[in-house]
Amino acid sequence: MAASGSGMFIRVEVDGTAASDAAVAKQLAAVCPVDIFADDGGRVRIVDDNLDECILCGLCLDVGLAGAVRVIKRYDGDKLLRHP
Ligand code: SF4
Repeated sequence: MAASGSGMFIRVEVDGTAASDAAVAKQLAAVCPVDIFADDGGRVRIVDDNLDECILCGLCLDVGLAGAVRVIKRYDGDKLLRHP
């Protein structure tokens, strides 16, 4: 099952394969500087309360297969975050 969450400014989506991959869950929890991802027993959980703290660093985009993690800028016409 995919993982996703929306704040006022930012939406984050993780596709189903990645969201249930224990290695991905561990890496996402480690890389995000503002703790938007939690490792929930080997599954990715989005921490809704932290979504709008996203600093657009792009570190999460390197986890899992290309495109598995998407950061959507709700404040900017739903544009996808690309690597800075
Ligand atoms: S872009 Fe950076 S701050 Fe935003 S969710 Fe990804 S790792 Fe976290």
